[in-house]
Amino acid sequence: MFDYQAPEALLHERIILITGASEGIGRAMAKSFAKHGATTLLHGRNIERLETLYDEILAEGGPQPAICPLDLKSQNFDDYITLQQSIGETFGRLDGLVHNAGSLSRLSPIANTTTHDWLDDMQVNANAPFMLSKAMLPLLHESDSGSIVFCSSSVGRKARAHWGSYSASKYALEALMLTLADELENTSHIRCNSVNPGATRTAMRQKAYPGEDRFTLPEPASILPIFLYLMGKDSQGINGQQLNAQMGKASELTKA
Ligand code: NDP
Repeated sequence: MFDYQAPEALLHERIILITGASEGIGRAMAKSFAKHGATTLLHGRNIERLETLYDEILAEGGPQPAICPLDLKSQNFDDYITLQQSIGETFGRLDGLVHNAGSLSRLSPIANTTTHDWLDDMQVNANAPFMLSKAMLPLLHESDSGSIVFCSSSVGRKARAHWGSYSASKYALEALMLTLADELENTSHIRCNSVNPGATRTAMRQKAYPGEDRFTLPEPASILPIFLYLMGKDSQGINGQQLNAQMGKASELTKA
């Protein structure tokens, strides 16, 4: 795993929006961020699951979270602006944004990939992070140490047969991250980095590898040190890097 020991109060008073917090990696991330002091803004589609998570965070003594339902298949930029305005009115700023929500429509050769599946993956994995990042930039500029993390994949860095729509969408996500990182480097306190979680025990992984023994894979809670690191002030100066949750050391990263 990425080698970083997060101090207990690492995220004290930080306000962090996590997309896809209703299950899998995003859910574990939200609980861990709250445990380290963050006010978590829980995004997803499944409101029942988000409410259960909300209750669990409060029961564990975390700061009161907020629930932000939005279907990322929406192509209407106004929906993202409405979310920005509501966060702005309540909190006045945003310290962290994790683009964790992901869509994996179907594994198939390009010859058999439907336009519908292609567009779904592009919409959720690439277009939505563009619109959400753009909408949230004014609030991230209000933070003294804003951080955006983009959840990528090994096939977002090296394409493989049958992963077409998902792979292309993650390449687009990486390009969005690199572009934004370069644009913001000398003009803001906002840093942008991507993380490949690596094989992790979630519903998405099971869909991709139905025959796999899921208990051989790390649980979402075990891959979180890198996300904690990137959300906290210890990672100030880390920008435009393509990182991995299951390898590397915080002490070996080069700061700008
Ligand atoms: P899960 O399938 O377990 O969870 C996906 C999350 O994304 C859910 O909370 C879901 O919310 C949300 N989501 C999906 N579609 C939409 C949508 N249209 N609108 C709003 N929310 C949506 O995925 P993982 O936890 O496994 O994956 C998290 C990230 O890590 C993804 O970006 C994935 O690509 C990446 N990744 C995962 C790997 C793994 O092995 N698990 C490996 C490499 C990368 P809801 O249920 O409320 O719709």
